[in-house]
Amino acid sequence: MALRIIREIGDEVLTKTAKEVKEMTPRTSRLIADMLETMYEANGVGLAAPQVGILKRIVTIDVGDGPIVLVNPVITETSGHQIGPEGCLSVPGKHGIVARPNEVTVRALDEHMQEREIRGTELLARAICHECDHLDGKLYVDLVEGELMDDDAEETEDE
Ligand code: ZN
Repeated sequence: MALRIIREIGDEVLTKTAKEVKEMTPRTSRLIADMLETMYEANGVGLAAPQVGILKRIVTIDVGDGPIVLVNPVITETSGHQIGPEGCLSVPGKHGIVARPNEVTVRALDEHMQEREIRGTELLARAICHECDHLDGKLYVDLVEGELMDDDAEETEDE
């Protein structure tokens, strides 16, 4: 396994649509392992392949309940509403308030190309939406209500 470089906002690869994964090759397996390692190293809850410069429809997520790998994910159902802070490893040092559904059902393949369906609420629902957006070249900064904020803004206010 190896750490991959996380692309940051302004990099064209983050605006492109990723392609479906047709088969699990050793190369794609390695990509998934690297994405997990890169996500954990960066203390992220999710990472999408375009964020490491690869235009494949692969997402890794861990909201604290163990790793989830989604290959070719499709959100099939959403319900409810949540509003809260969101950040992105490709937009370091920033966060913003984003509205998302509170419950999301996603159909995908796992790292062995086995079909799976995952239902997530709250942070997991948010992460699924956020990461799936990356596969379509979309960043959360375009969904932010109000201003994008610096992560240390609140601390500076107290000083
Ligand atoms: Zn992101």
